[in-house]
Amino acid sequence: MDKPSKIKADGTAHSGFARLDSEPFPAFEPGWVWLVGAGPGAPGLMSLLCYHALQSSDVVVYDALVNPDILKWVRPGTALEYAGKRGGKPSAQQRDITLRLIELAEAGKRVLRLKGGDPFMFGRGGEECQHLVKAGIPFRIVPGITAGIGGLAYAGLPATHRDTNHSVIFLTGHDASGKMPANVNWQAVATASPVIVMYMAVKNLDEIADALIAGGRDPDDTVTIISHATLPGQSVAHTTLGAVRAFLASAEPATPAIVVLGPIAEWREVLDWYQGALRENPVG
Ligand code: SAH
Repeated sequence: MDKPSKIKADGTAHSGFARLDSEPFPAFEPGWVWLVGAGPGAPGLMSLLCYHALQSSDVVVYDALVNPDILKWVRPGTALEYAGKRGGKPSAQQRDITLRLIELAEAGKRVLRLKGGDPFMFGRGGEECQHLVKAGIPFRIVPGITAGIGGLAYAGLPATHRDTNHSVIFLTGHDASGKMPANVNWQAVATASPVIVMYMAVKNLDEIADALIAGGRDPDDTVTIISHATLPGQSVAHTTLGAVRAFLASAEPATPAIVVLGPIAEWREVLDWYQGALRENPVG
């Protein structure tokens, strides 16, 4: 039987790069938009398809949460366009971003729309695609590792563990106007799952804690705040739901941050491989 093509004649494997180059990735066609998740931060957490897209696009339109180190992987000559907040100025309007994507695609560019984490997790990826559909622009979605999974892993918190939780709730602490979202049923959410993973929740955390306690959640439940997850500056803080107000008065957690409510925090004591004694590689 012939050896698989990835094994060289001397029995050793081809190097990773040779193997990647020979993989049959889908062609990035001119006039297409690829909406790609870059992962939560650490460049190694991007997918091979994300890497392939960086290597084949003409223009990358990227968000504020994309680690600039990831943009180093583009091929020379690729245009980079920033679509996030700039020095305190308001964010680029969502409408302007989608119009720009359409304009670039109609000009025949291979447009890589790069977002932090996963493009469909609190990333407005769905909205951008709806506009592409309306404009008749072909697109592909490349999922990414979302901060609410990858960030937890880098803090030593398994999102699920049979001894602590059989369910997880993901929610955002922020609606389009910046307020605590009124269309989350806080009463129901409070007791529906042992673990609640919250995106964009630091600003309204005091109100969220009040709403969860009013909904019947135990004020002694642990709150874990993971800032700059998966990056060298990652930091993790703990408090309890009932102590959130006092905690916020004495400490301002760095953002972006993921807030985790629930008992999976206990696992960090034994599973903290990234910041704890098991850490070997500062970049990850
Ligand atoms: N699409 C992204 C989420 C975008 S919403 C994803 O799938 O991860 C932005 C929120 O994501 C931030 O407010 C924060 O709550 C979270 N987030 C993104 N990157 C993060 C990081 N490196 N560390 C901690 N939180 C992060």
